[in-house]
Amino acid sequence: MPDGTAEPAPGRTARAAAVRAADLLEVLLRPGEPDAGRVAEVLRAHGEREPLELTAPDLAELREAALAIREVFAAPDTHRAAATLNSLLTAHARPPRLTTHGGEHPWHLHADAADDGPWGRWLITSSCLALAVLLADRQEPPGGLCASAPCGRPFVTGGNGSPRKYCSPRCATRERVAAHRRAKRN
Ligand SMILES: [Zn+2]
Repeated sequence: MPDGTAEPAPGRTARAAAVRAADLLEVLLRPGEPDAGRVAEVLRAHGEREPLELTAPDLAELREAALAIREVFAAPDTHRAAATLNSLLTAHARPPRLTTHGGEHPWHLHADAADDGPWGRWLITSSCLALAVLLADRQEPPGGLCASAPCGRPFVTGGNGSPRKYCSPRCATRERVAAHRRAKRN
């Protein structure tokens, strides 16, 4: 397959798989039961192919995996992010292997037991592998949780050197405005 095709290759780069993890955490860890349609929408947006019919047990194990991965995003420093990744990989990962899913996708790495293995195991191993690669690449935590209290969304660190506090310019602006208001009041 030539490079640079419009078709998104799921998890082909560490960054793409890490952003997919952050997007899935956001939809899986919202208050209330995760919505199968919304989760499938995020998977589709990241290039996963049909069939994406998620059952209640699939959603439950995806949510459990998301809760574990959230600990990596919540880690306050590189050492703790690395330790969390190591313990999740020890608990869940198999030796990495390359697959094309029978020619459906470009070659990419899996660290779960089988191509058609359970969703939860796929999410935790593919996410931890990607986040570990980013951490080793940058020698800093691969992501964080948005410091804006009403948000708290997981985000992947930009890679342009400066660690971020907020998931988006929108949250950064909201916090700046709030700080300005607080300063005016005092
Ligand atoms: Zn935010």
